[in-house]
Amino acid sequence: MSATFSCLVDRLNKLIRARLCRQITAHLVANRQPVTASDLSAALGVPLHAVRRALRGMVRSGHIAVEHGQTPEARAYRPVEIGLCEWCGLLDHHLVAGECPACAATVPDAARPAHARSVC
Ligand SMILES: [Zn+2]
Repeated sequence: MSATFSCLVDRLNKLIRARLCRQITAHLVANRQPVTASDLSAALGVPLHAVRRALRGMVRSGHIAVEHGQTPEARAYRPVEIGLCEWCGLLDHHLVAGECPACAATVPDAARPAHARSVC
């Protein structure tokens, strides 16, 4: 394989991965509930291994947050957003389900405002 062809393949892979990350983010933002990798795979029509690889990168870069389940398959994902915290009202760049990290740590067992909003 020539170096030019290899560079083109790498560039194409990066474009496909970036597109998949945008699709995953859009799906997570549209669904207020946490979504598993297999649900994302089915919803986007993308192979599960590609979704899992993209999710790992997005978690590492801080674009999405993980909710750990009983099993690895139950692991679910939420977008990390910018906005006003639904508990304290402060602007934060790391909101998960409408909660800033400080409030999420202090109210672990309280009824979540984002959950209430999704029911309404
Ligand atoms: Zn807060």
